[in-house]
Amino acid sequence: MVKILVVEDEPGIAFSLESDLQTEGYQVELISDGAIAVPRALAGNFDLILLDVMLPHKDGFEICRELRHRGLKTPVILLTARTHEAEKVMGLDTGADDYVTKPFSPRELRARIRALLRRAGPADQGGGGEPEQIYRFGSCELDLCRFELRRNGNRLDSTTTELKLLAAFARNSGRLLTRERLLDEVWGTGIAVTDRVIDNHVVSLRKKIEDDPATPRHLISVRGLGYRFDA
Ligand code: CA
Repeated sequence: MVKILVVEDEPGIAFSLESDLQTEGYQVELISDGAIAVPRALAGNFDLILLDVMLPHKDGFEICRELRHRGLKTPVILLTARTHEAEKVMGLDTGADDYVTKPFSPRELRARIRALLRRAGPADQGGGGEPEQIYRFGSCELDLCRFELRRNGNRLDSTTTELKLLAAFARNSGRLLTRERLLDEVWGTGIAVTDRVIDNHVVSLRKKIEDDPATPRHLISVRGLGYRFDA
């Protein structure tokens, strides 16, 4: 059985998470105090940790960093109260794998949990299966089987880099992607590419997929941090 540790001090959220996750077939342990989160997470042999940011005695950022420092590899999803907190999560080196912003939809959280468990390995009880191969947004389709981008059914001329970049965005829809993360995903580590190169590719992608590239709906700039893709 998949075991999830929930560290959350707001009883309403904690109990609704507990019942929702139990309904999904997960075993849940609740903790409300930041001070005991690290020892419990290290000892409990959990498959995943849901970690609130604002906690009594020790905040979620600190807890997460400490867990990573101790070598714990268990996936961590941070529960953040505000968007700027969420952006901080990705800007700082907390070691968290993902985040959701409150109020989050239970459905979205379940999807995030399944994705992380799948990535983490065979502990997953979920459906598994092939990753999504066609992403649809606006009048566009990104088809990763044929590796092409279509708009209103017509194939658009696109470079391999543009398609890889768009695929990275589509896989992480709704989430902030820092420029460093995009560099890793698209160019791979060890390749020297400047931020400007990413920005230029984003500009050319916007011309292809946005109705009005000057006021993008899909490829959103997050000032000072990176980009977010909204389907
Ligand atoms: Ca809290």
